[in-house]
Amino acid sequence: MTLSEFLASVEQLAADAPAQIAATATLDEWTAVRTALVGRQAGRITDLMTGLAALPKEAKREAGQRVNAVKATIEAALDARQAALEAAAQGASTPLDRSMPGRAHWRGAVHPVSQVIDEVVEIFRELGFTIALGPEAEGAWYNFGALNFPADHPAMDMHDTLYLGADQVLRTHTSPVQVRTLQQYPPPVRILAPGNVYRRDFFDPSHAPMFAQVEGLVVDEGVTFADLKATLSHFARRFFGAETTTRFRPSFFPFTEPSAEMDVRCGVCRGAGCGVCKQSGWIEILGAGMVHPAVLEAAGLDSETYTGWAFGMGPARTALSRHGIPDIRILYDSDVRVLDQFVS
Ligand SMILES: [Zn+2]
Repeated sequence: MTLSEFLASVEQLAADAPAQIAATATLDEWTAVRTALVGRQAGRITDLMTGLAALPKEAKREAGQRVNAVKATIEAALDARQAALEAAAQGASTPLDRSMPGRAHWRGAVHPVSQVIDEVVEIFRELGFTIALGPEAEGAWYNFGALNFPADHPAMDMHDTLYLGADQVLRTHTSPVQVRTLQQYPPPVRILAPGNVYRRDFFDPSHAPMFAQVEGLVVDEGVTFADLKATLSHFARRFFGAETTTRFRPSFFPFTEPSAEMDVRCGVCRGAGCGVCKQSGWIEILGAGMVHPAVLEAAGLDSETYTGWAFGMGPARTALSRHGIPDIRILYDSDVRVLDQFVS
């Protein structure tokens, strides 16, 4: 073979190769073309290299340089085509369908009872109350004794209270936080104490063995029942709406004297009577009263100098009447189909 014949073969390959490479539609086709062009056994480049050895010595340099240049060009084209085919194969396995509906994601939401607590806290925060918390496993003295429960009070019975030991209970109300706060901070005191409380009750439509409570306490010099009524009425109007009317009924709690329960006019029937208000036209919202002097003294305060008022409400009951839910167990069943309805 002469040099010119050899170079003609090289140029023929340089002319053919790009179209062959571009024509491959699959990785299998690409592999076949690659073998035909640069395969070690029978590739056209390998054939040329073999032919190169037979050329006259003085022609080898020029011929060799040209073959190597063509080989490099072909290999670069093969690499590029391989990358394109692989990218296409990957895309084909997960085709993008813009018409497919999106996957629904479960969004977390605030539990209806927590929603009530958050709103109550926010209203009292505006009035200058701060948050106070206490332990759920509480000393019996904090839960009963310091709150003026007489030693034979039925609430202290094992049938009503979950005892953890002789002097340790799961707190039956958030009122122990009153005592702990007054022991720790000098008046004026304005606190709100939300938290869970425990009773030895079975689940029924209106009872649960564990439920949330929100406690409020104000202690200062010259605090009167008028402050209690004004503050709680303001709260009711903020929480239930500006048109809300309230009424206070005499009640009894060991730790307040005098004591009262506050009702709000039923927002469903506007006082006419309905299932939500049990035909009474009123819904009981909270218990309240002037802090009993014995409670102030138990916390180390002079009851001649200081007076105060306190209230406690059950946000679960409030959530039930707000949403017209007939059974408290629905709130605690963790049924997503129910809770999903309160996503706001
Ligand atoms: Zn009603």
